[in-house]
Amino acid sequence: MDERKIIIAIDGPAGSGKSTTARCVAQHFKYVYIDTGAMYRAITFAALRFNIYPDNHEKINELLETTSISLKRNETGEQRTFVNEEDVTPHIRSKEVSENVSYFSSVSRIREAMVEIQRKLGQKGGIVMDGRDIGTVVFPNADLKIFLVASLEQRAKRRIAELPAQSIVMSFDEVVENIRQRDLLDSSRDHSPLMKASDAIEIDTSYLTIEEQTEKIIVLAENIIRRKSL
Ligand code: C5P
Repeated sequence: MDERKIIIAIDGPAGSGKSTTARCVAQHFKYVYIDTGAMYRAITFAALRFNIYPDNHEKINELLETTSISLKRNETGEQRTFVNEEDVTPHIRSKEVSENVSYFSSVSRIREAMVEIQRKLGQKGGIVMDGRDIGTVVFPNADLKIFLVASLEQRAKRRIAELPAQSIVMSFDEVVENIRQRDLLDSSRDHSPLMKASDAIEIDTSYLTIEEQTEKIIVLAENIIRRKSL
């Protein structure tokens, strides 16, 4: 492993700007960007398709044994999410998946399977990974841990602005409710809840532009890379 190719973990609640920021940081360093939320969304999409409930452990185990979740890049470098060989990217941000994902992501077996894939993807470094438990569980030794926060209102505004491009129709109140519910479930689950790692740097993105929050993380990462190169 190239010592200078670091692991950057970016965690935070829904809509805190993780994905866009993580993608920009990865582009800057020519690192690989991994959106772990897409993986939990993909397994949720697969479960819903087969009418599997999160508490049906037998069916969840069967689903995990027969389903591979993978992330691939298309010609333009955009991350696409696959369930077996099917590109499910257009489906994983639907209202139905958004309303159910936090129930499936609290299932231990599902978390263990996703974390195993995530660790393999990141083991060589040169990675920016975003999620809820990257700095606490997936890569507790990550070189740089960021925890992004923002007000609920700002997070909902960002999410609502993304919806037309994804052909999703949801009212502002529905988006607020979905985010509030996911935050609650994600932070209160027993298995690897959404939590700031003790050594993570918190950045409040409520009044920052994407460029500003990206720049802050790039500066922090450059300092670490410089120290590693000495
Ligand atoms: O990041 P995104 O909002 O797309 O994540 C969707 C859901 O996936 C979250 O609300 C959470 O329940 C789950 N998730 C998780 N752990 C991660 C990433 C996402 O539990 N590392």
